[in-house]
Amino acid sequence: MRKHLTVIRSCGECAACCEVMAIIELAKPVHQECPHQLKLPVIRPVGAPKLMGSCGIYSKRPAECRTFACLWLAETDRRLMKYAKHRKAQRIFKAADKPNISGILLHSPEKEVSPLTRATGMVPVNAREVWPGAAEEEAGQDLLERFSERFLVILIRGDRRTIMGPPEQLQKVNMFLEARVR
Ligand code: SF4
Ligand code: SF4
Repeated sequence: MRKHLTVIRSCGECAACCEVMAIIELAKPVHQECPHQLKLPVIRPVGAPKLMGSCGIYSKRPAECRTFACLWLAETDRRLMKYAKHRKAQRIFKAADKPNISGILLHSPEKEVSPLTRATGMVPVNAREVWPGAAEEEAGQDLLERFSERFLVILIRGDRRTIMGPPEQLQKVNMFLEARVR
């Protein structure tokens, strides 16, 4: 985890990031079980695909796994704290927002500063489906709508990117995209 994030929750029965994220060091593609996942069932909503459990090499896991910043686990991400204040909510996430339950994994962007961030100063939150179609399900939609009321959210599905956010932030994104095609 990165330094500005403080872990207050535990992964427990979730192993969403281990299957959703690509791990270059392990040559593991996105949406594929990691060979180091323990063969224990994880909890999923009824009807969601059944996949396997937590890390069998936790103390020796790759750097990419160590630095991955799952927002569900984070209490003191500065932007999330501001959001909680804005909504007068003590906690930003509901229990049901956990990635293995909502089907949506929200995480901080990669370490490299993107051209969008360089040009606009905005740091989007990345969102990925844990299983196909999760973003259209009620729990996933609710979570994405809540976050995109306040934050720029990039939903990554394969090669597709869906950008959601407050109107003024979307306007900046449009201006950035238009400048790139000129
Ligand atoms: S997605 Fe988040 S809560 Fe789930 S296992 Fe990964 S870090 Fe833990
Ligand atoms: S090495 Fe461990 S933490 Fe990293 S993806 Fe595999 S199971 Fe998950």
